[in-house]
Amino acid sequence: MATAPTLLAADVAPRALSPRAHVADVVLPPHAALRADASPAADGAARTAAPTWLAFVNTDDARRGDGGRRADVLLDFDVFVDWLQASDVLDAERAAGIRRRAYQQPAGAAASLVDARRVRAALRALAERGSASAKARGDALTEINRVLGRSAGTRRLEERADGGYARTFVTVGDAFAALMVPIVDSAAESLIAGELARVRRCADPRCARVFLDTTKNGRRRWCDMATCGNRAKAARHRARQHALPR
Ligand SMILES: [Zn+2]
Repeated sequence: MATAPTLLAADVAPRALSPRAHVADVVLPPHAALRADASPAADGAARTAAPTWLAFVNTDDARRGDGGRRADVLLDFDVFVDWLQASDVLDAERAAGIRRRAYQQPAGAAASLVDARRVRAALRALAERGSASAKARGDALTEINRVLGRSAGTRRLEERADGGYARTFVTVGDAFAALMVPIVDSAAESLIAGELARVRRCADPRCARVFLDTTKNGRRRWCDMATCGNRAKAARHRARQHALPR
């Protein structure tokens, strides 16, 4: 009975408790993918499987189906910040800070969206063709280094409300420019880890989603078995039925 309140307190303690708002406008974790993996709040295995940069590439997904039309999250700055927050790249406090900044500097926010789309296009080419195309790799490296190069700041280690630790990046200067740092950092981690050969596009021609194949045999074809994989299975089944003699 004595331990229950302690556990509860740790579970519900909001990350916003950290009194660090004065240090900088935005504090970003450069290893957001690692942090998402370690977070007990991560909602299941679905999110931990996809590196942040591939999830970011998939934000251009505007296909129909699965409950309606999806919108490109880079059409609206607020939606982009929502996505960064949902992906654990920004916590609630920092997301609120960048929203305030966007309200004060709408031109800066708009420019950062244009920039994010440019980085995303290079990362999509890297995901789809990077293992075969030196040009796709070179273009992506240029974009990654452009983002890393213009973001001045300090790396820090911070204790989180749940008792864990997170590496963070405290920016100075352009807060908007720093938004892309954790995303390109995630791509850098994948390249360093030699994962590129396992990154590919879904085999369904109507689906543009990219994924990291973590299966043992490396022969995964669909972004998701529950959607594209199932559709392909049903199509094969129909084809077999059709071929049966009547
Ligand atoms: Zn798919």
